[in-house]
Order: sequence, then structure tokens, then C-alpha cells
Amino acid sequence: MHFVVCIKQVPATTSVQIDPKTGTLKREGVESIINPFDEYAIEEGIRLKERVGGITTVITMGPPQAEQALREALSRGCDDAILLTDRSFAGADTWATSYTLSCAIKMLPEPADLIICGKQASDGDTAQVGPSVAEMLDIPHVAYVRKIVDIRPGYIKVERMLEDGVDVLEMSLPALITVVKEINTPRLPTLKGMLAAKKKQIHVWNKETIHAETDKIGLVGSPTQVVKVFTPPPRLGGERITGADAKEIAQKLIQKLSSHGII
Ligand SMILES: Cc1cc2nc3c(=O)[nH]c(=O)nc-3n(C[C@H](O)[C@H](O)[C@H](O)COP(=O)(O)OP(=O)(O)OC[C@H]3O[C@@H](n4cnc5c(N)ncnc54)[C@H](O)[C@@H]3O)c2cc1C
Repeated sequence: MHFVVCIKQVPATTSVQIDPKTGTLKREGVESIINPFDEYAIEEGIRLKERVGGITTVITMGPPQAEQALREALSRGCDDAILLTDRSFAGADTWATSYTLSCAIKMLPEPADLIICGKQASDGDTAQVGPSVAEMLDIPHVAYVRKIVDIRPGYIKVERMLEDGVDVLEMSLPALITVVKEINTPRLPTLKGMLAAKKKQIHVWNKETIHAETDKIGLVGSPTQVVKVFTPPPRLGGERITGADAKEIAQKLIQKLSSHGII
């Protein structure tokens, strides 16, 4: 079986800079990490390969420095890595990101049986890419997966986490899942794994390699355009209403609320 894990490299810190021209994050040269939820996606991709056999490929769309995130995933036990990088991919919103990833997944020499994404990215935070990639590949998906109950060629059974319990769902493969942190405990890379990952070849794919349409990628292909990015003013403390007793305080509060037309 072929497991494909989508990972995103995200800024390691919240003190990020916004490009004033495009309104998108400046990613080049910023200390970056693997998106926390994708650590669990990588681990699940490796465990499934160990469980039912096959290979695990890790893929990321990002600037050239995102190669570092792929090498970390290789050092944990992924078999193959693809870096989707091209100036024309920059500034992509979730639609354009999902389109680019789905074009690349269609180009894989060995078709994917299961695509594994993290629940969401710590910077964009939209949780949209996983389900969007599934739609663009016209395959079923389940989000918020906390356990893979059963898996074999053509079939998967999962537990989806809900606020008040779990759902047990079945799908035919190929399919896509997004995972939550309850699904496993990511392993640390071994020294042997790190040394091997250093030497491994990473496939670098650009717009031409994945036959992507220019008007569907990057800032140009993004239906969502950032109009303005600003740091919201800090919240000021509320007004404290005092009084001799609760009744007086309540009366003052009612007056205040009605003077503001709230009640
Ligand atoms: C502060 C901020 C706000 C943003 N708001 C929006 C917005 O409202 N609408 C919008 O369309 N875009 C938005 N973006 C852009 C958005 O971050 C990018 O489009 C991004 O590539 C995907 O969206 P996400 O970060 O929300 O990822 P999510 O959808 O939260 O990511 C879910 C999973 O998809 C996979 N994934 C995500 N990105 C990649 C990648 N580049 N390579 C491989 N796998 C990936 C990972 O498995 C990840 O765990 C925003 C970006 C920032 C920094």
C-alpha cells in the first residue's frame, strides 16, 4: 500500500512578518518547524506501513527551505519525499494550495491508497486543505480521525473524534483522512535515521512537473485575497459596576444595558 503524508512547514514563532504588498506571511529565512498536527500524520503514515506493508511518501508545498521539514520526516522513517516549490506557488490560499497538492498527488508514479493530513496548520488555522484536496481528487475523506480500526487494500475503518464521543466510519480506498493528536505518539528520529535522511534524494517538483494551470496556483489562483492584515488593538478591561448590594448593582447594570440599547 502507498501512504502519502502532506506536511506544512510553519513559522516556529508567532512573531511573524507580513509582506505589505501581498498581505501574506514572509516565510523565507524565518525559523520554521513541521506543523504540530503533521507530526502525528507522519507518525501514522509510518505506523501504517509497518502494520500492513508498503511505502510512505511525504510531500510539502513551500519555499526551498521546506526541504528541512522533509528531511526530518525521512529521518523518522518515511521512504520518499517530494518538495513542491516554485515562485508561482507563493501566496496561495487554501484553494490554490489544495489544487497544487492534488495536481502533485495525481502525478505520483505509484497511486496513493491513503492520503494523511494534519487536522489544521498552526499559522493559517483553516483546516480546509485536507478536505479540499479530497474534493479535488474526487475521493472520500474523514476529518478528525483518532484511530484507524482496520485497513487493507481498498478498505479503511476509522474512529472520528466528535465533541461528545466518536463516530465509526468506513470508506473505500483511495481516500483521505485528517488526524488529531490523540491518534498516536510521534517517535523521535534515530541517529541512523538522521544520517540516512541526510543522504536521501528529495524530488523537487515545480509547476511544469505537476502540469498545474498558471491561473489556479499561488496568489494569482487564490480566490481569497488578503485585503488588510493588522494586529487587533489589545482588549481593554471592562467597566466595574459597584454598589451597596447586589440589588443596587443589578439596577445599575440594567440602566447601563438599556442606555446602550442592549435590552
Ligand atoms: C494568518 C493566516 C491566515 C490565513 N487565512 C486564510 C484564509 O482565511 N483563507 C485562505 O484561503 N487562506 C488563508 N491563509 C493562507 C493559508 O495559510 C494557506 O493557504 C495554506 O497553504 C493552507 O491553509 P492553512 O494554513 O489554513 O492549512 P490547513 O488547512 O489548516 O492545513 C491542514 C493540513 O493540510 C496540509 N497542508 C496545509 N498546507 C500545506 C502545504 N503547503 N503543503 C503540504 N500540506 C499542507 C497539512 O497536512 C495540514 O495539517 C492564511 C494564512 C495565514 C498565515
